[in-house]
Amino acid sequence: MVHAVELDHVSHVYVGKRGATLALEQIQLQVRHGEFVSLIGPSGCGKTTLLSLISGLLLPSAGTVKVAGEVIQKPSAKVGYMLQQDYLFPWRTIGENALIGLELMGKLNAQTKAYAMELLAEMGLADVAGKYPQQLSGGMRQRVALVRTLATEPELLLLDEPFSALDYQTKLQLEELVAETLRSRGKTAILVTHDISEALAMSDRVVVLEPRPGRIRTVVDVPTAIRETPPLAAREAEGFHQLFRQLWGQFEQMDAKGGAEI
Ligand code: ADP
Ligand code: MG
Repeated sequence: MVHAVELDHVSHVYVGKRGATLALEQIQLQVRHGEFVSLIGPSGCGKTTLLSLISGLLLPSAGTVKVAGEVIQKPSAKVGYMLQQDYLFPWRTIGENALIGLELMGKLNAQTKAYAMELLAEMGLADVAGKYPQQLSGGMRQRVALVRTLATEPELLLLDEPFSALDYQTKLQLEELVAETLRSRGKTAILVTHDISEALAMSDRVVVLEPRPGRIRTVVDVPTAIRETPPLAAREAEGFHQLFRQLWGQFEQMDAKGGAEI
């Protein structure tokens, strides 16, 4: 079976002035089509490095990264990357910003443009299409960033802490919207987050990484009752709290080891 994402013995070393850092060591990970996987772990455990390797922005020092069965050697149109910062262009309107990804890929035409405008409407942004980014709230800007990413129809979405700069209520609302949007389209997604609840509420599987060197510590399969419930209500589902405590315990053990970078 061809996986949406497959990492085989992936290690990554950064070489800098202060020597070499083994950021990831021997990562084995397979993600199924349509699966939603979260990566959690203390700061510096290699989460962003892992996404950069999957996106093709970085090449692994050892091992192979495959997306849809093909070895990734450079950034590909199959993969959409969404970051904590929205990187909207301030001099472009929201409607124009939504089209940037399509423009950069040379895929902008009447049909793809219509799809991007449909997505804007679906995200509740139709009324602000003529406004500029600085006129919008943080949550709205992140929705525009999501539209821009989805407009190019990537098979795989990589989300690096996309909600962490938002206030709590906006973050919960956006979790609902993103979960529903990705599920209804059957997209595969990998989310990096600091937030254990968010990981459990949104995912099919949670991968816990430990730092120095970055390794997979535990993988938790989220039970069906939680998986099939939208993120906000999932937090009330049976078994949620127990799993939260289990993962919290993992973080405490890593702290006790002096795991996180300050
Ligand atoms: P996370 O996203 O989990 O906080 P990162 O993937 O950013 O972790 O970093 C993993 C490790 O690699 C850390 O020790 C970090 O300091 C180091 N690192 C990240 N990027 C670079 C870089 N460009 N050059 C050197 N070291 C880096
Ligand atoms: Mg990071």
